[in-house]
Amino acid sequence: MTQSFYPPQRTLMGPGPSDVNPRVSQAMSRPTIGHLDPMFVAMMDEMKAMLQYALQTRNELTIPVSAPGSAGMETCFVNLVEPGDTVIVCQNGVFGGRMKENVERCGATAVMVMDDWGRAVDANKLEDALKAHPQAKVVAFVHAETSTGASSDVKTLVELAHRYDCLTIVDAVTSLGGTELRVDEWGVDAIYSGTQKCLSCVPGLSPVSFSEAAIAAIKGRTHPVQSWFLDLNLVMGYWGAGAKRAYHHTAPVNTLYALHESLVILEEEGLENSWARHRTHHNALKAGLEALGLAFVVPEAERLPQLNAVTIPEGVDDAAVRTALLGDYNLEIGAGLGPMAGKVWRIGLMGYAARKDNVLNCLAALDEVLG
Ligand code: PLP
Repeated sequence: MTQSFYPPQRTLMGPGPSDVNPRVSQAMSRPTIGHLDPMFVAMMDEMKAMLQYALQTRNELTIPVSAPGSAGMETCFVNLVEPGDTVIVCQNGVFGGRMKENVERCGATAVMVMDDWGRAVDANKLEDALKAHPQAKVVAFVHAETSTGASSDVKTLVELAHRYDCLTIVDAVTSLGGTELRVDEWGVDAIYSGTQKCLSCVPGLSPVSFSEAAIAAIKGRTHPVQSWFLDLNLVMGYWGAGAKRAYHHTAPVNTLYALHESLVILEEEGLENSWARHRTHHNALKAGLEALGLAFVVPEAERLPQLNAVTIPEGVDDAAVRTALLGDYNLEIGAGLGPMAGKVWRIGLMGYAARKDNVLNCLAALDEVLG
């Protein structure tokens, strides 16, 4: 007979998923109720208000998509991009590449603005592309590049895009809750995130938010959205203001309890305190990693506190170190992605994992394993 699955208790200090707050796991095991039950609908309303707080927005269309961050990405692209459109995509790591794929699958043209992996998106290069492609409708980029640990300047890039009459799509999968992010003040039009990083929640949901300008673009489309599931015109009937909560799909009820609890925890801590906590523990980890002789990939001014990419020292076996950390210390750190595979480790300090004991344990384990 197949036995029940009991996973080990790991410490998740990779690029995500990160450690889940035990309060979130407990919330998830509460009784499942109907997704049109008035109690559930009231919980959703609270969640929407808390998501607006986390994203610092008053956008009415602020909802969790019932699927992981990639579905949030796809929601933004399939709703805002139509066949024949031109979209400028700034790529400085893996996830900008996925944006390009999304644009092309929408039947649009992606103009790529390439930056080195490990660096922020360069606003000057974006401006050159905007001048060269006046027909561009959307500018898309990643706030927190999880593949490298680089942070880009959302405010400056969005201002620039708006100057050239473009809407903006911002990937905030790794930034939400861990790094300063102000959707309304910075004028972001469409944004998506994930629950499994700095929100201390389980994977599987993708908070998204759309400005009035983005909604106008969606309503003014000449082609139907090619995805039925992600078509916001339909989803708005379930989540929208005054919506009748008509059945669209069966909401992942217990996962939504988890997100609700993680947002309650974020509210209790305070958003700015959460950003500060990530920075404090990053500073401690940085001091320790440098003392071990490990060098950061990203220049200090462009570095994310929640994703620490360091170069693997010459002669050290990448997989052997990660296997020892997992096997002997129950500690997960991340490998490099794409061209950085085998060259860097990615050490996450996200959400509930961004704690003093984790920093100390990680440094002690690395010290022992590296000998
Ligand atoms: N964008 C970024 C920056 C990410 O880090 C990730 C996941 O790590 C994604 C998008 C995709 O999210 P998911 O794996 O939840 O689909």
